[in-house]
Amino acid sequence: MVEHRKPIPVAEAVERVVNKAQALGTERAALGDSYGRILAEPVKATHDVPPFNRSPYDGFAIRSKDSDGATGENRKRFEVIDHIGAGAVSEKTVKEGQAVRIMTGAPLPAGTDAVVMFEQTVDSGASFTIRKPFEPLENVSLQGEDMKKGEPVIDGGSLIHPGTIAVLATFGCAEVDVAKRPVVGILATGTELLDVSEPLVPGKIRNSNGPMIAAQLARMGLACKTYGMSVDDLDESFNVVKQAAEETDILITTGGVSVGDFDFLPAIYERLGAEVLFNKVAMRPGSVTTVAVAGGKYLFGLSGNPSACFTGFELFVRPAILKMMGADKLYLPRTQAVLAEDFEKANPFTRFIRASYDGASVRPAGFNLSNAVSSIARGNALIVLPGGTRGYLAGTTVDVLLLGVEEGASEWVL
Ligand code: AMP
Ligand code: MG
Repeated sequence: MVEHRKPIPVAEAVERVVNKAQALGTERAALGDSYGRILAEPVKATHDVPPFNRSPYDGFAIRSKDSDGATGENRKRFEVIDHIGAGAVSEKTVKEGQAVRIMTGAPLPAGTDAVVMFEQTVDSGASFTIRKPFEPLENVSLQGEDMKKGEPVIDGGSLIHPGTIAVLATFGCAEVDVAKRPVVGILATGTELLDVSEPLVPGKIRNSNGPMIAAQLARMGLACKTYGMSVDDLDESFNVVKQAAEETDILITTGGVSVGDFDFLPAIYERLGAEVLFNKVAMRPGSVTTVAVAGGKYLFGLSGNPSACFTGFELFVRPAILKMMGADKLYLPRTQAVLAEDFEKANPFTRFIRASYDGASVRPAGFNLSNAVSSIARGNALIVLPGGTRGYLAGTTVDVLLLGVEEGASEWVL
């Protein structure tokens, strides 16, 4: 007898997965190793940035009041008494009619409050003239104008990207508190599977899902343990899954999760006493996607169909991992775009179409059934068509989820 499964909406499935995720705690990482990690603590400015008033240009530091009344006919002359580059501090105090030749990044010398750019002078070396008055603090990069001491700068839970690294380095953080990363295992199930290096033989196909998932994890900065491939045998698969679940925080399996005669994952979850969060989602591809939790470990049962497997990872595994790492942006970023060609298939369930998005329009990336491999390769986005709709015509505005974007969105909006 075929088991009857009740499909739940995608949004509910996403919510169930995310709600189960337990934070993994934090650890210290060297700044140089922290790119791509999730910041565990907020960053506050520990000093003003810039830490002193400095010149934003190459030119001359002057007392602004000495420039009062300067015009083209009545040029004001300044005597150059010192010369500093970035990193140097002038020991001179500038008096009436004097100036210091100063380079970008050098602190304003005592007495000065404005900078004249080279282009604004007629320069003869020992002195120069200007033809306009300067305001106090004109052309000065002010202490604290970027960040003020004590100011909150970056929220905890943010992804550490190159700009974050710049801020951390600015404040002398040689080490950073980051979220621990989950240990993730991958197991491909299916008697038909060959390893990537094996020649094709009748009835068999190569395991493309395993390496694909490893790359989806790598795109999130995560390594993985691979448990290879297991044939469709209940006892054998059970043993591998049990062992893998003990060694990992998350075990991702592909295949064997449907209702076929050799689909043993449902029985394995039962034997493990796992809590099944859902085993049917109102989506295409990947309606059989199953997520279970056993002994605090996540078991993601993704479909063996490559497009369904890929989509299941992006929709469910990714936010769970990010939540475990305390990230504040769990979801694929969404945009809207104009459909560049007709998509005439009806959508009884929410449909995710591998697609190519160019910033304005979006089109399906070729062969788009759940068993497709080529459109995963050609796509950089997923078109989302709501369930209960008929086909869509070119020119319609549709929702698009972007793939491979460094930092996601904080809300699931579909
Ligand atoms: P299953 O989910 O086990 O019913 O598999 C669905 C389809 O996906 C079948 O045609 C399988 O041969 C294929 N498939 C299963 N696992 C993989 C895999 N690791 N790589 C590529 N295709 C797969
Ligand atoms: Mg199978």
